[in-house]
This record gives sequence, C-alpha cells and structure tokens, in this order.
Amino acid sequence: MNITTKILIWMTAGLTVGSLINNFAYNNIIIQNYFVDGLFHVAGSVFINLLKMLVVPLVTFSLLCGVCGIGDISKLGRIGIKAFFLFLLSTALAISLAILVAVNIAPGKSFNFSQGMPDSFTVPETPPITQVFIDLVPSNPVTAFAEGNMLQIIFFTILFAISLLMIGERGRPLIEGAERINDVMMKIVNVVMSIAPYGVFALMAKTFAEQGIGLIMPMIGYFGVVVAVLFCHAMGTLMLLLKFLGRISPVKFLKKMRTAQIFAFSTASSNATIPVTLRTVEKRMGVDNSTAAFIVPFGATINMDGTAIMQGVATVFIANVYGIEIGVTGYLTVIGMSVLASIGTAGVPGVGLIMLAMVFNQIGLPVEGIALIMGVDRLLDMIRTAVNVTGDAVVTAIVAQSENSLSMTVFNDPTAGTLESVHLPHQDAAQH
Ligand code: ASP
Repeated sequence: MNITTKILIWMTAGLTVGSLINNFAYNNIIIQNYFVDGLFHVAGSVFINLLKMLVVPLVTFSLLCGVCGIGDISKLGRIGIKAFFLFLLSTALAISLAILVAVNIAPGKSFNFSQGMPDSFTVPETPPITQVFIDLVPSNPVTAFAEGNMLQIIFFTILFAISLLMIGERGRPLIEGAERINDVMMKIVNVVMSIAPYGVFALMAKTFAEQGIGLIMPMIGYFGVVVAVLFCHAMGTLMLLLKFLGRISPVKFLKKMRTAQIFAFSTASSNATIPVTLRTVEKRMGVDNSTAAFIVPFGATINMDGTAIMQGVATVFIANVYGIEIGVTGYLTVIGMSVLASIGTAGVPGVGLIMLAMVFNQIGLPVEGIALIMGVDRLLDMIRTAVNVTGDAVVTAIVAQSENSLSMTVFNDPTAGTLESVHLPHQDAAQH
C-alpha cells in the first residue's frame, strides 16, 4: 500500500475517532485526559515538531545547493521575479473570486447575533508594511535561523551561496559538503514521512475531538462560501494557470500533490509542510533543485491564496452582519491589503486571522467581528492551508517549466519519487 493511501486511511480514522469523542465522550474525564490531551496531543505535537525540525536545515542546505547549482545570478533573479509576480497574480485572482462570489451570495445578511457570539477578540499587534522590507535583511543571521524567519534565511543563504561561488575553487569542498548534508536531510524527510500516518491520525483525532461539527452550523453560510471558493480556486483558477502558463497536465499534477495537501490539511501550516512540498515538487514532479529550493520556502511565506479567499469572504460576511456598506473602493483596498498582508506574514496556523485584523483596520470594519468567525477558523485553516501549498507548487512548476527546469520524464512517471520503504543500515547490510 502506498504512503498516501495509508495516510488517508489513518486520517479518516482520526477524523472518525475525534468526531465520536466529540459527540459521545466530550465530558468523559478519562478520555479527555488520557487520550485527547494525553496520547493524541503528545503524538500530534511530536509529529509537528519533527516536521518543523527539518524546515530550517532543509531549506538552508537545499537552497545553498540550488543557488550553487544555477551558478548564474541573473537566472536566479529571473526565477525570483517570475515567482513573485505569479504569487501576486494568483493571490489577487483568489481574493477577487472570493469577493465576487461572496457579494453575490451575501452570507451574513440575515445573521442573528443570538446564534452565538463568542466573548471577544483581542486585536493582535500588526506590523506596518514598511517593516516587512526592513525585516528582509537579518541584523543577526543566527537569530534568523533560530527563529526560523524564512525570508531572512533565504536572503542570507542566497548571499552566502553567491559569495561561495565567488571564491571559486576554494569553495568547492563546502558546496560538496552542502550537497551531502542535503541528501541526508532528504533522507530524514523520508523517515518522518514513513511515520506520518500515525502523526496525522493523532492530529485529526485531537482536532475533531475538540471541534465538533455543531460549531459550524450557525456559521454554515460563511463556512460554505469559503469552502466553495477554495475548491473553485484550487481546482479551477490554479489548474487553468498550470495548463495555460505552464502547459502542464493538471490531472497528473493533482495526483502527485495529494500527499503534500494532506500534510498541509493536518498540520494547518505551510511552513511545517515545506519538507513535504519540496520533496513532492523535486522527486515526484521533476522540478530541479535550483528552482524548487528557492520558490517553495519563498511561497510558503509570501503566497497564501487560501488565506486571501477566507479574508475576502470574511470581509463581505462581517460587513453584512453589521450592515456596513463597503463599496468598490473598499473592496479594492481589501484586495490590495490582503495581497500585501500575505507577503508580510509567515505560513503558520491561524495567521490568517491576524492578517484579517490588518485588513479590517484599514477599511474600518469592526475588528471584534472576527470573534464571530473564530469558532470555525481552525477547520477552515486546515482547508485553506492545503490550497496555499497547492498554489506554491503550481507556481514552482510553472516557473520551472518556463526555465526548462522541469523533467517531463519524471513528471509523467506516476511512480517517480514514491516513498521507498525506510531501511535501517543493519537491515541494508543484511540484505547485501
Ligand atoms: N495556516 C495558513 C498557512 O500556514 C495561514 C493561515 O491562513 O492562517 O498557510
């Protein structure tokens, strides 16, 4: 049985166990203490930590090898600019579609506050957009690496790699060393992925034990519109971009994307999914390391189509609930703000709500309104993260294709890069 099927089975099992607990054992202290807050919580958190543990070293060494592999600074610049504009384009398309659909369906028009208003929403601190540009350059790279600040890590690593190329022959051993470490890191990704079914089970069981479907009912209008637009964007807009800009088959692409999407869904974090996305685009789709190592972490930080969709629908919904007219200029501001906000915030769980607060502040909608949609946000976060990660991979594939860095042989091979079973060294020795 391949790993994706196995993860899917365990994911469904986790979802079922979680929902059963939520419905029948929500007040059972033993189940709550020993399973939900015990076993599931520990196993799920360990799994997320295992993924996060790989992100910084994997991105660093992979990018180092990538830049040294390109060896041509102008090509690197071209890849960066293409990816950046495609990220902006896909996010702008995503939020425009969201606003268009939401304005027409008008969720929240007949919303009644007695349907469930949580207490309050504390407005988070939001950094000014100028700070985003200043923060691109780390004042201390050690802090950047320690905090996992992706844009700063990318900046420092690219500069380091370029300088490594500039010192010529003397830099060779370091480049070879980086290549070997990169191989080791990829091996660790395989090891972590092979235990993923159990990690995913624990995450699902815990989330669904806490988040009953009942929470969604009062918000079904909002929830339904967000999910529908997410689906249309992932299966429609993104696939059209892939087909027409990249001349790549969406069906094959989607098949290969499944594992990364499941990881994104269960972790609700594009950042934690980077190792799997990187592995998927390189080993399963045939994007060369130089392109993938740069665009994937870049996208995980600055590209959030799914999050932008949630923001578009949430804006219309809250405006309807409070009976506030936003107008065309207001909506255009929302589009601009969401695109900018997605650049400045990292792909971690729940960040979408912080970005939403920035947008609401800008257009004068009541930020307390966010409290209304918080209850269903966890589930939406999971779904939109899968869309965010799909967007990252779509742009990576399009740019790679335009640079002749996509191996069609690998892309067309359905078995390419499927996870081989992990052997411990003594098992290998015994087999030889
Ligand atoms: N969790 C999302 C991500 O990591 C961001 C968000 O929408 O909150 O991509």
